Amino acid sequence: MYDDCFPLLPKPVAAEEVHQRLGHDWVCPWCESERVSFRETEYFAASDWIELPTRLSKPQWVCEGCAIEIYASCNTEDFENAMDHDRVIDIALDEGVEPAVFRRACIRHQVDLIDAQPGPEQRRLGPLRQRLDRLLSTID
Ligand SMILES: [Zn+2]
Repeated sequence: MYDDCFPLLPKPVAAEEVHQRLGHDWVCPWCESERVSFRETEYFAASDWIELPTRLSKPQWVCEGCAIEIYASCNTEDFENAMDHDRVIDIALDEGVEPAVFRRACIRHQVDLIDAQPGPEQRRLGPLRQRLDRLLSTID
């Protein structure tokens, strides 16, 4: 299912770097289970992290698993039946926006990432870009 919906995301960052940038422990706001925490000399974290503008309050660090799952669901043509449809709705409402607004923001974010790529990479991502443009025109 993820194959044709697989999202384009900013490069993930290791937990240690997230902790250094934040200066404190952090729990993923979207799953509330993945965490970055500094204990003695060890970083405990199973996941890498991505800073997302679609996370509306700061800090904007979300675990990589959530970023992929939520963006992939937003990219699904049949959104009503997307695997994480209900989570997308819940997260949007937690962020204080209408689900359609949140979904559009997740798709636009990927369009912006594609537009920021160098030419050859933009051409490679052309089919994804077309797909995202098509989705944007269908969400009201
Ligand atoms: Zn998470």
